[in-house]
Amino acid sequence: SAHARKPLISGNWKLNPQTKEEALTLARGIASAITDSTPDVDVALFVPYVFIESTMSVVGGKLSVGAEGVCPHSNGAYTGGISTSMIKSIGVDWVLAGHSERREIFGETDYYINAQCLKILDEGMSVMLCIGESLAEFEADLAGSVCATQLKKGLKGVRKEDLDRVAIAYEPVWAIGTGKVATPEIAQSVHAKCRDILAGMYDRETANMIRILYGGSVTPDSIDDLMAMPDIDGALVGGASLDINKFGRIVNFN
Ligand code: PGA
Repeated sequence: SAHARKPLISGNWKLNPQTKEEALTLARGIASAITDSTPDVDVALFVPYVFIESTMSVVGGKLSVGAEGVCPHSNGAYTGGISTSMIKSIGVDWVLAGHSERREIFGETDYYINAQCLKILDEGMSVMLCIGESLAEFEADLAGSVCATQLKKGLKGVRKEDLDRVAIAYEPVWAIGTGKVATPEIAQSVHAKCRDILAGMYDRETANMIRILYGGSVTPDSIDDLMAMPDIDGALVGGASLDINKFGRIVNFN
């Protein structure tokens, strides 16, 4: 296929599944769906902290196991926090930041998300920064400007030479968990805008290297048309990443 960047298909398990046994069954199933006939893609699964190490141990190196978030403080009196050093020390490569659920439910600000991005990169890991507009913002034609603000604030101080360890996930809030996947045309147009914004922040060559993933109600029915778009470099999949058959089909997109 003619992808300008190596696609990255990722799953976000969120607060699921509820037992280690289920997590390992799911992880094993997903790993076995990655075969010799799978397209040349990177696969990453963002899983709850408590399942990270056991998940890693059953996927046979076929995919990366990432953390769904991190506490940006180094150490000390932050009860309940998990630091970048802790997750790095168990072999984690990828960390999610800026998910709309973290922004909305847990009140994480662009400032806090930026601190996470800097710390993750500082530690030598990769960050997937999630951005995206609400329904009201989408209806007011503000998707581009909301993404611009979230990109500029989220990546403030990130050096150009670290951007090979950054992926962006464009996740319109109105599409997350709603079954209302963005049309490939809408997603493509926002992705192209995001790439222009990155080109303005850095330069065109750098922007052309950064993977921009789409997230929001991705299923086997929508993945092929999304992946056919020139600026869509992969997917961040929530609900469908909890289903071996669905996620297996998504990883093996056409
Ligand atoms: P969804 O979630 O695929 O269930 O819409 C996507 C996400 O929140 O990353």
